Amino acid sequence: MREKLKDIRSLSIDSLRNFFVQNKFKSFRGDQVYEWIWKKGIHDFNQMTNLSKETRSLLIDNFKINHIDIDFYRKSSDGTIKNSVKLHDDLLVESVLIPTKNRSTACISSQVGCSLNCQFCATSKINRLRNLKMDEIFDQVTLMDKQSRMYFNRPISNIVFMGMGEPLMNYNNMIAAIKKITQYRKFGISSRRITISTSGIPKMIMKLADEDFKFKLAVSLHSANQLIREKIMPFTIKFPIADLIESLNYWYLKTNRIITLEYIVWENINSKKSDINDLINFCKEVPSKVNLIQYNSIGDDDYKGASVDIINKYQNELLKHGINSTYRRSRGADIDAACGQLANK
Ligand code: SAH
Repeated sequence: MREKLKDIRSLSIDSLRNFFVQNKFKSFRGDQVYEWIWKKGIHDFNQMTNLSKETRSLLIDNFKINHIDIDFYRKSSDGTIKNSVKLHDDLLVESVLIPTKNRSTACISSQVGCSLNCQFCATSKINRLRNLKMDEIFDQVTLMDKQSRMYFNRPISNIVFMGMGEPLMNYNNMIAAIKKITQYRKFGISSRRITISTSGIPKMIMKLADEDFKFKLAVSLHSANQLIREKIMPFTIKFPIADLIESLNYWYLKTNRIITLEYIVWENINSKKSDINDLINFCKEVPSKVNLIQYNSIGDDDYKGASVDIINKYQNELLKHGINSTYRRSRGADIDAACGQLANK
């Protein structure tokens, strides 16, 4: 049965070369196949046209190529494309392509569901079903690169890990995918154009700081007050703000890159003057800039996005203390592609 066959993309290049040698073929066939599956993104052995029929049969008899498929996609009036992506075991994740004037940003998922329990996020309502494998993360990029070329006449320019899941809880697969993305595909993407967004897991942030790559780090802070943070993001009971600050300073020390703090303002949750002061104090301790994010309702009355007046107040106070901030309006809201809505409906 083909289901029992090994997925060829789980093999390293050396194992692939060995496979050919053991079967009395030249080892460079392994290099050719590796190029087809990673550089050219081919999912069908019969499309590997520089291999003989005999070689292709050997592969067909021994391997399968698991890959993702678009289940369906929708285009928002602002150009954003939301893909519902089917994995080889029929589970679904979402990948969103966000065009702006000069960029095409691919927002990709790292897990099916999420094990964290951020109260305001739709993904947390489905528990974590499993981690995405390296090739499933890689395939999302390939897929949206094709879409970007087709609809916007350009390759994708940026990648953000802001889809479903917590990337730092699927660390090894995420790093392996980034390696492949920057190494094999001609996306024209350097790791500098890749942003990893985390809810803030100190130990893993420090691990990330020690990697050789130079990516950008974003942290979903949403409150700089431990008690409030525990209420809106209960998992932070185990990860106090003091530890987060320490890990972010380690990140800055090692990378010299400032951190983007993602921050949603809600009425009656973090809209008071003292909340702004807590954020200002946090920013004084961590080299950072603030990205205020428009809240997209997930139908919970406890979470109501703050008015523009309050957002302006936040921005003015931050500015008074020399802290840069931007206000990010939602994209793709009409198709539930906006942040935190990826599991709605
Ligand atoms: N787990 C990672 C990445 C996924 S969430 C993280 O937490 O960073 C990507 C971003 O969307 C995070 O900043 C998250 O806090 C934010 N987000 C979650 N739900 C949202 C919602 N309903 N409206 C707007 N942003 C939301």
